[in-house]
Amino acid sequence: MKIHFLGTGTSTGVPVIGCTCPTCTSTDMRDHRLRTSAIVEYQGKTILIDVGPDFRQQMLRARNYEIDAILLTHHHYDHVGGIDDIRGLNYSTRRRFEIYALSSTRASLQKSLYYVFEAHPYPGIPRFDINVVEYNIPFMAAGVEVVPLEVIHGAMPIAGYRIGPLAYITDASSLPEETIEAIRGVDTLVLNALGMFEHPSHFSLPQSIEVARQVGARQTYFIHASHHMGLQSEAEKMLPESMNIAYDGLEVEVRE
Ligand SMILES: [Zn+2]
Ligand SMILES: [Zn+2]
Ligand SMILES: [Zn+2]
Repeated sequence: MKIHFLGTGTSTGVPVIGCTCPTCTSTDMRDHRLRTSAIVEYQGKTILIDVGPDFRQQMLRARNYEIDAILLTHHHYDHVGGIDDIRGLNYSTRRRFEIYALSSTRASLQKSLYYVFEAHPYPGIPRFDINVVEYNIPFMAAGVEVVPLEVIHGAMPIAGYRIGPLAYITDASSLPEETIEAIRGVDTLVLNALGMFEHPSHFSLPQSIEVARQVGARQTYFIHASHHMGLQSEAEKMLPESMNIAYDGLEVEVRE
């Protein structure tokens, strides 16, 4: 299994428009973060997690992936803002895409992407089906078993996913005990860490380190960083041995 981080930034991306802080003006490309999204390659299939507003740019930058299924964590714009751009893939593959999401995410997309769901839509819409998933009930995405996990994002329950030896959790501010249990000892944990300061709807880096210790994965990669994470080169020094801050374009091997 392989995970390819297409984007590792928080909702604003980094640099933040107009900001002149040391992180936003860094020349280290690891400090340039598109909105959070990843591709998982497993059992010969390619699964995309989230379709943020940078999706088009990410797909042009990545090698030529054939996406077999799409998982959504929640309906916030930084995770779904690029769905209209799956049109490019509809054209090149001549097929619809299967999206998997919570019912709350589907309900929200039916409002924000209302034109896709109309009885007689404009012909140039993105073509996809949304399959509703439920916490802790495994489902097959393109033949790959995936388990949706409950994740708390501020006051909102959203989805994380376990795919074999990988757990992928973004936008968490707390995790129910069942979720910790469901991912304890995975090979690779991907977990959000916003930065050095506490925030009502996202784990800070110190909080994420603590959660990662409880999970005890062989390796942990932090995602969804804001410019308050500081420079990658500095933040990395604060991390325990098995933990790293992911950056855009990073590809990591996950062991079975
Ligand atoms: Zn987010
Ligand atoms: Zn900044
Ligand atoms: Zn969010």
